[in-house]
Amino acid sequence: MSGLLPVYYSPTHQEHAPDAHADAPARVEELLRAAVDFGASVRDPGDFGIEPIAAVHAPGLLALLQTAYRRFAQLKEGPRPAAPDTFAVRQSAGRVSHNIWGQLGHYCTDNLTPILPRTWDAAYASAQVALSAAQALFDAPLVYALTRPPGHHAYYDLYGGYCYLNNAAIAAHWLAQRGRRPAILDIDYHHGNGTQAIFYERADIFVCSLHADPADEYPYYSGYPDEMGAGAGEGATLNIPLPQTTDEAAYLRALDWALAAVDAVAPDTLIVSLGFDTLAGDPHGGMGLTPAAFRPIGRSLAALGRPILLVQEGGYQLGALGPALLALLAGLSEATGGRELVATHPPEPDAAG
Ligand SMILES: [Zn+2]
Repeated sequence: MSGLLPVYYSPTHQEHAPDAHADAPARVEELLRAAVDFGASVRDPGDFGIEPIAAVHAPGLLALLQTAYRRFAQLKEGPRPAAPDTFAVRQSAGRVSHNIWGQLGHYCTDNLTPILPRTWDAAYASAQVALSAAQALFDAPLVYALTRPPGHHAYYDLYGGYCYLNNAAIAAHWLAQRGRRPAILDIDYHHGNGTQAIFYERADIFVCSLHADPADEYPYYSGYPDEMGAGAGEGATLNIPLPQTTDEAAYLRALDWALAAVDAVAPDTLIVSLGFDTLAGDPHGGMGLTPAAFRPIGRSLAALGRPILLVQEGGYQLGALGPALLALLAGLSEATGGRELVATHPPEPDAAG
């Protein structure tokens, strides 16, 4: 299968390079190198336009991401990365200020996520990478979207946690509109709070997240087991918080539990929000996993027997990213026993756009 693995990648991510920041462009370059070593075929994304992004995100957020740097540069402080100094924390949620500072505080969750001159271009390209990979899933059993910036902390109307647009959610909604029934499994070290919120009241997209206990770790305010969805989406959210000390055996047990829950809702597609910040020693995460642990993780994911879209999220320990990805891809290949997973739908007739 290795020669057949499509990997979607856009060099535009390099244009978003915040100073002294965990989400460095080198992360994705390391992963790309490993994917090429595995024998993957690297493909350029198409351009699906703004519509599939606007289907998941608020118009005000999209306008802010596109204009914030330029508007900020006109302030007397001069050009610099745009970031809020106040936050609309439980205050008049419906009102949006005309002021750039007011808008930043309205649409942002933290001060970890600066808007640079080309941040929008990078975020837009990252979403197109996810959409292109989603489309490729109509012809391939496993596709890797090498997205950066990451996406799973971005809400309908909030950016934060290094995330601007929620790549996995955009891909999931796009697939659902085309008759697929995707489930999202988030295995990043941090809870996928944005993804959970976007689908919280929807029954059609099951969201399961395996993450460090938010009582101890970012994003602190969601990811608890009693968050199970609401309204029509009641029961379609599953959170499995884990201790930071979780070792490989305990992690694999939790993963199997998560996959059994995913299997029970009978999705026809698995979208994996893939983080490598569960690796021991990650500077912004770190459980007790070695790169080799991603091999049995890959086997377990493939054993679900559904087409898989991998969407890259976090992972900040540069030297460990390549070995972990190689182990994951090896595990995914092994579990199919050399036999390809069968795509359950005919190829998508329409091209991008
Ligand atoms: Zn993370």
